[in-house]
Amino acid sequence: MISSDPSKVTAICFDRINIPNMHILDVAKKYGAYAFLPTVLQEMDGPKIISEVKTSGLRGRGGAGFPTGLKWSFVPRNTNKPTYLLCNADEGEPGTFKDRDLLRLDPHLLIEGMIMAGFALNVRDAYIYIRGEFLHEANVINAAIAEAYAAGLLGERILGTNYSLDLTVHRGAGAYICGEETALIESLEGRAGRPRFKPPFPAVEGFYQSPTVVNNVESLTTIPAILEHGGNWHSQIGVPNSTGMKIFSVSGHVNKPGNYEVPMGMPLHVLIEEYCGGLQHGDVPKVIIPGGSSTPWLGPEHYDVPMAYDELHKAGSMLGSGAVIIMDETADVVAITRRLSHFYAHESCGQCTPCREGTGWLERVMLRLEAGRCNAQDLVVLEEASRHMDGRTICALAAGAAAPILSLLKMFPDEVRSYLTESKVGGG
Ligand code: SF4
Repeated sequence: MISSDPSKVTAICFDRINIPNMHILDVAKKYGAYAFLPTVLQEMDGPKIISEVKTSGLRGRGGAGFPTGLKWSFVPRNTNKPTYLLCNADEGEPGTFKDRDLLRLDPHLLIEGMIMAGFALNVRDAYIYIRGEFLHEANVINAAIAEAYAAGLLGERILGTNYSLDLTVHRGAGAYICGEETALIESLEGRAGRPRFKPPFPAVEGFYQSPTVVNNVESLTTIPAILEHGGNWHSQIGVPNSTGMKIFSVSGHVNKPGNYEVPMGMPLHVLIEEYCGGLQHGDVPKVIIPGGSSTPWLGPEHYDVPMAYDELHKAGSMLGSGAVIIMDETADVVAITRRLSHFYAHESCGQCTPCREGTGWLERVMLRLEAGRCNAQDLVVLEEASRHMDGRTICALAAGAAAPILSLLKMFPDEVRSYLTESKVGGG
């Protein structure tokens, strides 16, 4: 049960995640699923719901952190085109695995959130775009949708009201770039998943050139609690400008990796020491990647950084998707960076030359570096090329590919130099 006292809230999206069989409608209803939906459909309207979501301070949990209520308010209301709601369940950022738990363990929370969001935005057709590898999750969510249709929670005249919504699951083919909202739309329309130039933004011209809202799984599963308890309630959880709870996917050299939902703004060391069982070796991490592999690295001096948008930005990184990757003193940072370079080279969609050519080139240089076949001049070129990949492409993948390399060169110059040909020759 989610407390109506903001100071006593321990979970929002994960509130019932550990209850067995929560994916079954009867069980979910026993624990409060869809209980507030009739009130929303009968006593609220679009502007009122959008206003509550704005007041809540909720920011998109997929990575960009754009205010959800503001995004919704961009959708034109006086248009003869249909408005679409797309749930981004593509979850491909290395280190991120929170949406997967929400999809497979409490699918009715997502469906309820999508009905409420769809009602607010006057949506008739909504889609869940789920990554291809999530076959089990797709089966679970499809079964939950079938139950919801049978119970009158989806389809024509939901719960006897005038609101109707159809919800369809679409499985992607496992491309990282389809987590970018315009690539997701392209893929859903049946084309190769490649990002579009913006503007126009999807809120105005998205799926089939119609107004489209793309929201992450975690964002949508937060909506039922916000509408039941109020935007003001949500805004009192967390810290200013980073309100509410956040699921952090913690991996790497911690004793208990996993998903942990905690109030925004919790100092990182508290999350690691009290929730994740501490570090495997040493007292402080060697590297902290706070928001997924494309976010800049932080060092041990930031072990107490509050896990919030502004505070992480001030520290030199980003909250991103909340995928915290911890490396302790045993980490080989060159090998790890080379591995990340391979990922981005593999996932580039190929539209932009700096990304298509640059990511492959970065990987090849990292392979040479790891093999001891680079010289000092190679490092100068590596840094320069990485810097030039930012801001020259259609989407942020190129900058994401450069981020680990720039972090490596900045934070570990001595360790990198120890891999150079000269060092290998001289030092054996
Ligand atoms: Fe594709 Fe890379 Fe350009 Fe993004 S930056 S559109 S992934 S080529």
